[in-house]
Amino acid sequence: MSIIVQKFGGTSVADSKKILAAARKAIRATMEGGQVVTVVSAMGHTTDHLVNLAKQITDQPPAREMDMLLSTGEQVSVALMAMAIHSLGHQAISMTGAQMGIITDSTHTKARIRSITPDRIRRALDDGKVVIAAGFQGINPADDITTLGRGGSDTTAVALAAVLHADACEIYTDVDGVYTTDPRVVPEARRLKRISYDEMLELASAGAGVMHSRSIEFAKKFNVPVHVRSSFSDQAGTMICAEPEAPDQPVCGAAMAKDEARVTVLGVPDRPGAAMTIFSQIAAKNIATDMIVQNVAAEGLADISFTVVRDELPVTLKGVEEACRLLGAQGYNYDDNVSKISVVGLGMKHQPGVARRMFRALADKGINILMITTSEIKISVLVDRDSALEALRTVHAAFGLDKEPAQPGGAVAAASAALSNDTADAVVRMQNMEDLLLDDLALDESQARVTLSGVPDRAGVAARIFEEIAAGGIVVDMIVQSIGREEYANLSFTVPRKDLAKSLELVGGLAGQLGCPAPASSPNVAKLSVSGTGMRSHTGMASRLFRSLAAEGINVEMINTSEVRVSVVVDGRQGAKALDVLRTEFADVLV
Ligand code: ADP
Ligand code: ASP
Ligand code: MG
Repeated sequence: MSIIVQKFGGTSVADSKKILAAARKAIRATMEGGQVVTVVSAMGHTTDHLVNLAKQITDQPPAREMDMLLSTGEQVSVALMAMAIHSLGHQAISMTGAQMGIITDSTHTKARIRSITPDRIRRALDDGKVVIAAGFQGINPADDITTLGRGGSDTTAVALAAVLHADACEIYTDVDGVYTTDPRVVPEARRLKRISYDEMLELASAGAGVMHSRSIEFAKKFNVPVHVRSSFSDQAGTMICAEPEAPDQPVCGAAMAKDEARVTVLGVPDRPGAAMTIFSQIAAKNIATDMIVQNVAAEGLADISFTVVRDELPVTLKGVEEACRLLGAQGYNYDDNVSKISVVGLGMKHQPGVARRMFRALADKGINILMITTSEIKISVLVDRDSALEALRTVHAAFGLDKEPAQPGGAVAAASAALSNDTADAVVRMQNMEDLLLDDLALDESQARVTLSGVPDRAGVAARIFEEIAAGGIVVDMIVQSIGREEYANLSFTVPRKDLAKSLELVGGLAGQLGCPAPASSPNVAKLSVSGTGMRSHTGMASRLFRSLAAEGINVEMINTSEVRVSVVVDGRQGAKALDVLRTEFADVLV
């Protein structure tokens, strides 16, 4: 018999009428011959209200008690949903995370799923019942209730679909699919027919709140096709699966992370391991850092900038203070009034000029770019929060995201929850379901680095630089622009080694016009890329990478982090050695 996992989000179960409507959808699926597991979230804004209640009592509620509180929201809705199904003449049973056998680690409020033993669910299904599963919660080995992080019911649903080898995983929500960007913010946004796991992962972590990004890690790792669709209609929505919608389209979507904060640690001794000290202090607090950029500053000192979610700034700064003390750094500063705008697309891997198009569009609107990082399938810029909305609209229009793609991809290969042999082996080897899983470690020795320092920090400069480079027909790979000191920024990028001389000539001319020093360069760099799943949510990943390289005396010159890949640039002479170091360091999680 086929198994279907359905999930209804908060708005879809906000009142009794909506609960009854969701119940009818579940019943219909059973009538069509399936066994149904229905995952539900807390009703409407219940979780927000619970968070507020806690805040009225204390600023710093114990995390264990927070989970005890937050998990009650889902317990209310599972009971009501089971009652609704009974009232319509069908059998149902509600279950909490513990009753479903969802074991997590003990990171309260952000727990990771370790294992699921779905025996009880299976028995209930075999008894002809609809199982109503409480989303977002589990239990740790000490029997304490845990929650998976805001939006975590998506992760419950996809994880259950994975362990039950479900034939379908349907996410019912208040939009009718995944759009090119949040349709409530940009009304011109277009609904995608499908989107690849990697693209959805990047968009989710870049701020597209429609799916919890960890749910997509599960979907990718266990090859679960996910159908995002409307609770209020029967129309098909968006399939999240292995294939992209249009492989030739450079960008499939844009996202905004509005409430970000930038932190810069000043005057860090420029030696192997310095960055590691900073990031391990922060990782120890379970905070994910993003947009990490390092500047070569004067006299053997570097400035290291990164971003975190604004709510996590106070805790982050505690870690930063500790790191400054340990490193003897000059100090730090921060800006909590910034937003991150990202564009994502598998197609940008093979197409030049995508970054330039984004920078030009922003320049034409007079929007200043504070920081830039790129990965293979994502470009992110940091802007002032006041211009964030305009920036999002601008890039959405610049890539024509409101229009149907000219050459859509072919039909989706038949969806199958069967795992490839490699992945199946790896998953069996994994102790915990949400463990970090790496599938590739690559060394690229074909590139050179160009660094421009003292770049005037004003709108349009990045656009001019990359237009100049593109005019020379040169394909740029990694780009990082950091916050500089006193209104000047630093910008580094990599190009194919054979194009270095020409790049320097082109940028050199422009540097003169902009009044900045002649560009510096390194003709021989090695880029190491680690790909896999869980790269960003496993907060210790970056510090493990820095630590292992530093222990062998290898300095990291550039870094970019994304959901699916972390890349570092090191001195070209150390490429092969760095590859060995990483192979050894990550042997336990490499497929
Ligand atoms: P649920 O309660 O069902 O889990 P969420 O509020 O978590 O619903 O997610 C749905 C919301 O996500 C939509 O109402 C929409 O405003 C927002 N959203 C953000 N980015 C996107 C996007 N790219 N496509 C669709 N919706 C998006
Ligand atoms: N109720 C939880 C939240 O609001 C989980 C979820 O809705 O996915 O974050
Ligand atoms: Mg949600």
